[in-house]
Amino acid sequence: MSNIFKKIINREIPTAFLYEDDLCIAINDIKPVAPVHILIIPKKEIPTINDLNEDDINIVGHLVYVAKKIAKKNKIDSNGFRLVFNCNDDGGQTVYHLHLHLLGGKKLNRAIG
Ligand code: AMP
Repeated sequence: MSNIFKKIINREIPTAFLYEDDLCIAINDIKPVAPVHILIIPKKEIPTINDLNEDDINIVGHLVYVAKKIAKKNKIDSNGFRLVFNCNDDGGQTVYHLHLHLLGGKKLNRAIG
């Protein structure tokens, strides 16, 4: 059974794409924790950071580069933003399809953990 992000990528669940290319999509998080909370999601099904292999290095770099471009488009680049990958339960991961959170639009809490 496909995970929810794969269903969104396959357009089985209607969701507005903020960005799409051959490698990834970007969507608004359904439960935003910041004024800008966007998920950059690779089309390749990679459950967690633990499952990355050497061939995926370009995908991860691409996600970060796309996040940078989206941050600029949302005018949060100069004030700043945060990029987060959660991994497994202790890391707070709830959807087991790799994704990068782009958070910004306000002064974020410095606390990590
Ligand atoms: P994580 O906890 O790192 O796995 O992040 C998963 C994120 O996906 C959470 O912030 C959820 O709010 C978000 N999410 C779950 N389902 C959807 C959906 N259908 N559309 C957009 N975001 C979603």
